Amino acid sequence: MIVSPTIFFFVPLFFALVAIFASWLYYSFRMRVPLPPRRSRIYRCASCGHVYADHRDRPLCRCLKCGAMNEALRR
Ligand SMILES: [Zn+2]
Repeated sequence: MIVSPTIFFFVPLFFALVAIFASWLYYSFRMRVPLPPRRSRIYRCASCGHVYADHRDRPLCRCLKCGAMNEALRR
């Protein structure tokens, strides 16, 4: 099988351009999707007064200093 120099040059060029185009599409779509904002709840301990935040979405969270369970002040 004899491969002409034109095909020998353009076929790898074509695949390289397709790869660049596909990665451009991938990264441009990936940048458009924003990450969800990481919201945290703020707690104030009723027994020791320690103020702390927790990223987990829970109504009650244990105090880091004394271990008492406290309700969230706000989201
Ligand atoms: Zn506490």
